[in-house]
Amino acid sequence: MAHAIRVHEYGSPDVLKWEEVEIGAPTAGQIKLKHHAIGINYIDTYQRSGLYKQPAMPFTLGMEGAGEITAVGPGVTEFKIGDRVAYAQPIGAYSTERLMPADRAVKIPEGIDYKTAAAMMLQGMTVRYLIRKTYKVGPDTTLLWHAAAGGVGLIACQWAKNLGATIIGTAGSDDKCKLAKDAGATHVINYKTENFVERVKTITGGRMCDVVYDSVGKDTFPSSLDCLKPLGLFVTFGNASGPIAAFDAGILAAKGSLYVTRPSLMAYVASRADLVETANDLFDVVKKGVVKIAINHTYPLKDAAQAHRDLEARKTTGSIILLP
Ligand code: NDP
Repeated sequence: MAHAIRVHEYGSPDVLKWEEVEIGAPTAGQIKLKHHAIGINYIDTYQRSGLYKQPAMPFTLGMEGAGEITAVGPGVTEFKIGDRVAYAQPIGAYSTERLMPADRAVKIPEGIDYKTAAAMMLQGMTVRYLIRKTYKVGPDTTLLWHAAAGGVGLIACQWAKNLGATIIGTAGSDDKCKLAKDAGATHVINYKTENFVERVKTITGGRMCDVVYDSVGKDTFPSSLDCLKPLGLFVTFGNASGPIAAFDAGILAAKGSLYVTRPSLMAYVASRADLVETANDLFDVVKKGVVKIAINHTYPLKDAAQAHRDLEARKTTGSIILLP
């Protein structure tokens, strides 16, 4: 019998329930997977708490996983039983087995194991679109990256460094700042003890940043806007401290005709072609060793609630996986 972590009501990590589930056979266009590893992402906490609502209850949490195909539905031609695949959508990953649309899965290349694949798909593809599409980061770019020692953050430091950027990373402790620096951040700021706007001013000699990547949300807004050059880009892509409240667009004129975007991975990999291109770019930097995936925490799948507690208490760094 398969097992899954399911949510029957929104709330604290206590709402996560370990239950027996019936999986069934794949229908047209679907594959059936036996998970070998599952990725934990901050979005899982929003979906658990109800910040991001689901269409129906109960539901199985989790956006990311890696496993082997155990059955294919009618019409699936790209995959066969035994293939090693990974994905970062749709929801339903906290399970020993699952069904999912074949067109959201990608084959894991040789040289990348299941744990690494499960730890990197969502965070890594996010970094890829943020630094290659939302803003084209290059040697002339000075960027600020908040939560630089997190899962997304450590990948971003390594990848943006490889593109030649000047990276200013923030993190909530000196130990985390060291991790970000070791991963490639040019400068680091402990934003719990230092004023990050003042530090950015000093570091850049008053020139400030071309782009600010902010997944912290409420606590770093609107200070993050003060770290930008005129005409700079503010990328608000997460809410770890809570969502940013509605604001007067006039603030963008006052702070230098700034641009703002609120992107999500799903829009950037909506087509099969974009998903495959994004995943291949990620596989490429990982296989070359440009980006090393830091799996700093591993929990049994049934202990997902504890993983959520640790993630929300800011006790984790790098990527977190669950093992079924
Ligand atoms: P992280 O590993 O980065 O964990 C979140 C980090 O945010 C914490 O470790 C902590 O680091 C920091 N943080 C700051 N304030 C708080 C707070 N009040 N409570 C908790 N954490 C806080 O998570 P992920 O790598 O999974 O995701 C990073 C962010 O990126 C999330 O906000 C996520 O929603 C977003 N995201 C957005 C995507 C998109 O396409 N829009 C896709 C993927 C992720 P510190 O202690 O150093 O401050």
